[in-house]
Amino acid sequence: MRGLALFAFLCLSHFGVSYSQSGGVSQYFESIKNSPLKLRHFLTTMPKGGDLHSHLSGAIYAESYLAWAAEDGKCMDIKSFVFMSGPCDGRNDLMPISEIYPGGPQDVDGLLVNIIDALSTRDYERRDLSGHQQFFSTFSRFYQASLGRQGDMLAEVTKRAAGQNIGYLELMHSPGMIAASLEAERNSDLARAYGKRLDHRAMEKIAKAAVEEIDEMEERRSILQQCEKKGAEKEGCSVSVRYLAQVIRTWKPEQVYAQTLLAFMLMELDDRVVGLNYVAPEDHPVSLRDYRTHMSFIAELSEKFEGAGQNIALHAGELTLGLVPPEHLGWHIRDAVEVAGAKRIGHGIDISYDPNMYQTLQLMSTDDVAVEINLTSNDVILGVSGEDHPISIYLENAVPITISTDDEGVSRINLTHEYQRAVETFDLSYETIKTISRNAVQYSFLPGKALFQNTIDGSLNTECRKGLPQDLKDRSTCSSFILQSEKALAQWQLEKNFNSFEARF
Ligand SMILES: [Zn+2]
Repeated sequence: MRGLALFAFLCLSHFGVSYSQSGGVSQYFESIKNSPLKLRHFLTTMPKGGDLHSHLSGAIYAESYLAWAAEDGKCMDIKSFVFMSGPCDGRNDLMPISEIYPGGPQDVDGLLVNIIDALSTRDYERRDLSGHQQFFSTFSRFYQASLGRQGDMLAEVTKRAAGQNIGYLELMHSPGMIAASLEAERNSDLARAYGKRLDHRAMEKIAKAAVEEIDEMEERRSILQQCEKKGAEKEGCSVSVRYLAQVIRTWKPEQVYAQTLLAFMLMELDDRVVGLNYVAPEDHPVSLRDYRTHMSFIAELSEKFEGAGQNIALHAGELTLGLVPPEHLGWHIRDAVEVAGAKRIGHGIDISYDPNMYQTLQLMSTDDVAVEINLTSNDVILGVSGEDHPISIYLENAVPITISTDDEGVSRINLTHEYQRAVETFDLSYETIKTISRNAVQYSFLPGKALFQNTIDGSLNTECRKGLPQDLKDRSTCSSFILQSEKALAQWQLEKNFNSFEARF
């Protein structure tokens, strides 16, 4: 009797994280795995820790850009499908968006269909451009429509995340990067000593303005989502957001240096900016030429900004044979980890070209360097899919992976779609996708210690080895540990969500 009471107490006060308790759900998952519609529903409702690789501007669907541009009196060049600022009168080929969208009088002969196709990779196979060309051509097309709408963009992505039970977004965004590059253009000399290459006071001003930009963006999000209202969680208020300062790697070295410096300044100045990433095509001739220089910028600034400069995620190895000459393959990932101290690798596609592949995998596994897998993006941009994708190599070699969207608006997907694609293509088990979901918080740049010692077997940190508390008021060692770590708190919440989710099966 006493044993039973103790068991009941344990069940009430703790919830398990071992897979033995998720047996029902695993069985159900196997039974629906080959039924795409049931699988989609399952994966939509399954808690997903987060999306760690999402570019904010690429996450927006074309229809949203069109709606905002119509409201903002913007125009479109209907030859090149590039958004332009208003007024539209008297300029050849410029048409007010309001006459096209939604349901405007000028939307004839499939104009809107063609615009949406031009702003995304929808049906890209039917066009003359490669997926790579089409993908990267979209960003300059919709740039003008994004101006002044950052808060709306944030509201859109968080609402979409909430609808898929995603708790956290680490968004790549570029506040201040253009200003930093202009400053470098005006006044910089990379040959000089650290501190004298740029005017640091001017850079600090740019950083402060970037923080204000983030403030405005977040204020607009909360106005749009009415977060204080009941039921607001569904609108996206419950989704936590942090930012990665994104450095555009295809610009001149002094401009990339200035952006990297700004990224470190932002990490130091504002808790919401938790890391940095380098973006724009890694196969661009400038990115290839300057790759080593870029890694050395990050290495040096990490030392100068010790403490703030610990969170580096890098697009690395988003390359394949044919796209670039072989000399550029097989070493970017290793350099990102060893030189720049990257804690996460975006894509990691060219790992098999590394002559020391198994050593690199071992290094990543031992040092807990995660890989952000973006299946649709890799298929469209690089033409890499199915057995050619290295996801299985990473899994087999115990390198932690997360699944992410890259640019869900451009690709017209969502995170659930990417989970589904992973399950269907690589026959992943429930246990594996649960680990992947957990990894999105474990390997996030949220501050604080992680809850898991190992997300693969589900073993918890020593403070919580007796199990997780139902609520955090029980004054246990585990509760106080969780309350001191933002990351562990997000992980605890995710485990609670998993518990309720799995209880249905
Ligand atoms: Zn990316």
